[in-house]
Amino acid sequence: MDSNNKRDNQSPKTEEKSHLKREKTKKRDLSAVSADINEKYADIFEKIDFDSDYDDILSEYEETIERRAQASIDKARGKENPEQADFSKTKNEANVQDEEIQDTAAQQDAFAILLFIEELGLHVGEFFKKLWNGPKRFFYKASKFIASVSRIIWLLICKLSAKLFSKFSKQAKALTKDIKSIKKYFGMARADRKNTFIKLWEYTKKGLKRHKAILRTVGNIALPVLAIVAFIFTVNYWSSVTFALKVNYNDKEIGYIADETVYNEAQAAAKERMDTGRNGEESKFEEPTYELALVSLNELVDSNVLCDRIIENSSSNVTNACGIYIDDEFICAIKNETDATSVFHQILEPYEKKIKDDNSFVDFVEKVEYVQGLYSEDEETMWDASKLVEKLSQTKESAVKYIVKDGDTIYDIALKNDVSVDELLALNPGKDKSLFPGDEIIISNEVNYVRVKLMKTETRKVEIDYETEKENNPSMFKGTKRTVREGKPGEEIVTELVTYVDGQRVSAQEISRERTKEPVSAKVQVGSKPTTVSGGGYNVSVSGQGFVWPAPACTYISSYFGWRTLRGRSDFHTGIDLTKPGGNSDGAVIVASLDGTVESVRRGSGGYGHNIVINHGGGLKTRYAHCMPGSMSVSVGQHVRAGQAIARVGHSGNVTGPHLHFEIIINGQCVNPLPYIR
Ligand SMILES: [Zn+2]
Repeated sequence: MDSNNKRDNQSPKTEEKSHLKREKTKKRDLSAVSADINEKYADIFEKIDFDSDYDDILSEYEETIERRAQASIDKARGKENPEQADFSKTKNEANVQDEEIQDTAAQQDAFAILLFIEELGLHVGEFFKKLWNGPKRFFYKASKFIASVSRIIWLLICKLSAKLFSKFSKQAKALTKDIKSIKKYFGMARADRKNTFIKLWEYTKKGLKRHKAILRTVGNIALPVLAIVAFIFTVNYWSSVTFALKVNYNDKEIGYIADETVYNEAQAAAKERMDTGRNGEESKFEEPTYELALVSLNELVDSNVLCDRIIENSSSNVTNACGIYIDDEFICAIKNETDATSVFHQILEPYEKKIKDDNSFVDFVEKVEYVQGLYSEDEETMWDASKLVEKLSQTKESAVKYIVKDGDTIYDIALKNDVSVDELLALNPGKDKSLFPGDEIIISNEVNYVRVKLMKTETRKVEIDYETEKENNPSMFKGTKRTVREGKPGEEIVTELVTYVDGQRVSAQEISRERTKEPVSAKVQVGSKPTTVSGGGYNVSVSGQGFVWPAPACTYISSYFGWRTLRGRSDFHTGIDLTKPGGNSDGAVIVASLDGTVESVRRGSGGYGHNIVINHGGGLKTRYAHCMPGSMSVSVGQHVRAGQAIARVGHSGNVTGPHLHFEIIINGQCVNPLPYIR
């Protein structure tokens, strides 16, 4: 505040004098505060523009403030130091000396406290400055400006409060003195009873005039504070107060409600309670009248309470009982609540006994409620427990059946009756496979008045499919396969939470699954040997049994295996004859049908003519007959691969034309080769 302070430490002063001077300084501060601030901060305000760095201005400013605050604290503690002396001197020293000085230790302390607050404010300011550091990166200059202005405003407030406090404490002292004198004055007034009031008025007038300043100060502070307190009380009061409707029924006030729907709900509930079981005989309800009222929120009643009050005021024939509601529908009232609940407990009991674990439970599918309240004593609705048991043993809905018509499918029936196909098949197992006109289909089962839902855990075994591993076998033709190892399925134990409604399983939810047996995968070899033999200029075809068609170009079967008539004679044909379809077969390639070893290569003019026999092992042999002379390219003992060329088609031996006569011999017996090679 006083950057113009002159350092004047050399001149020695007595303790008393320096004390007075400090007080004078303060006085000047307080009286000339606004002018001083304007003068002091004019340059700061001038300096504030968006291009300057306020740190310099502020640090200079803060230094002064901190020094002064420390000095004031030290002074309050009774210390003397040069800083303190610095603080106590001003350029206006001379003027100050003329003023009346009232100095007390209390006032000194009060001033020190104020300066301490001032310092505290600076620390708060520092804290907010730190808080600003994040956004400051983005709003650097703006935030600096705001920080500077905030600090100046804070200091202004401090100074003004210091002024106010000082004035107040001085005047408060004068007031205290005057109040003390009241005692004396009252004594005087008592002595002169006649003029008591005149004197009191005189005194009050005088007092008001004398302490005008302090009363104004009190007014300036106390009135806003009182206004705030009053405001808070008002808000608190009104927030718990609401506009409500006061319901008058039968000329009686029966409660406050939030709006008319509460009454309508309550009357509907009352009507249901009173009219159930009375065969259309309807209760008469008075029309309610409403008045707008302002009440506390906790005075409002709900429809349940209002329902009881309506019944209470409608009929004398009512009593306190326990109402039974199933799915919100009023069934009856039972005088004793324990009787009512035990009826329902008895239904659940046999199921509860079956429960063994914590995951299982039993309850009703329907919402069963017990509502304590006023109910008509009419015997149609006020039941004893045995009547309730009887009612609950009845069915709510009877079974629905459908007679199948000509052309109906199970899907048509499901669609017509608005049930799912799954539901329908659960009720009528096997009906998706056989359905005849006139058949009776169950659409829905009968439904008990209350249904019991039982949820319990169950375990079951399930089979786990095995996988098939495939591996290539280059010695097998493409398209052929051989099982090396049979697969075996695994096993798992599944635990499920199963829901039953009246004993019928309706759903299941899996809880856990434990593998008890690992599956064994199957191993299959798949042929990868190409069916095209390179260099031979022909493609071989391989049968499912792995036999190669022995003459790739001769796809026509001119004579089958078995009995036939040849040249007017019955004759058993021991193989099949293969020719080129529509063309001369002479010279067509003959290949080995399977891998094997050449057993015989014979040349002859009768019977088979030129022919080759290959032994495949295991009692299996193949014969290739009527070969073209000179075409046989293999020799006895030679190993041949399936599809390998061994000779060419000719017409040697007993033939009518060129063809390949092919035989399969198993353990010395000729068999029909077709099933093997085709
Ligand atoms: Zn033949």
